[in-house]
Amino acid sequence: MNSSSSPIADSILNLKNELAPFNAKLVAVSKTKPVEMILEAIKAGQVDFGENYVQELDVKQKQISAPIQWHFIGHLQTNKVKIIAPYVDLIHGVENVKALEVISRQAFALEREIAVLLQIHIAKEETKFGFDVEEVGKVVSDLFENPLPAVKLCGFMGMATFTNDEQVIRKEFRSLRKLFESVKQGFESRGIAGFDTLSMGMTSDYKIALEEGSTMVRIGSAIFGSR
Ligand SMILES: *Cc1c(COP(=O)(O)O)cnc(C)c1O
Repeated sequence: MNSSSSPIADSILNLKNELAPFNAKLVAVSKTKPVEMILEAIKAGQVDFGENYVQELDVKQKQISAPIQWHFIGHLQTNKVKIIAPYVDLIHGVENVKALEVISRQAFALEREIAVLLQIHIAKEETKFGFDVEEVGKVVSDLFENPLPAVKLCGFMGMATFTNDEQVIRKEFRSLRKLFESVKQGFESRGIAGFDTLSMGMTSDYKIALEEGSTMVRIGSAIFGSR
């Protein structure tokens, strides 16, 4: 079997074709899947991988020497930041200011800068984590006044309500894009580059997310199979 006939490679190539017109980046979510599958995806040209669990990411990171980009997309406990701080490339799910401060402290000690996205609570579910839409403006303007030395705020991440109602999902993604645009203007008016990432959309809703302006989709089961 050659690599072009692998289902993982096929899914990645198909998704990349689908994402190209939207200029969106693909994060392949490999949580719970073995390293062999990640290596297969790397062979197909995939560079960005997302993991949800600190311990699992740490084990996989040590086993893979290829120069890939690791995205942490799960719920990050502050006492575990230091485990992934040496190598993580983008943390999607920053849920509160305390986490931002811990990430900054750890990154500073390592003399590196860690790119982060604030997770914004857009879904109806109470259980979804993140900042409320109403509080984000204040959080960002506080950061403009008192910048954290070693974190780079690159954008937002959001998860839509788990529902079959496409209109609900679309409305939530649209509201996040609107918030993203207004905060982006704040960065631009201050001449700060790099606030350019809107991480929204997974296997079940990435098509809607792309239509609503996602710049980065996090896709697991459509690539690696169901979990
Ligand atoms: C698991 C997960 C994904 C990928 O989910 P799929 O439905 O398998 O595409 C994306 N984002 C987050 C935050 C996840 O936890």
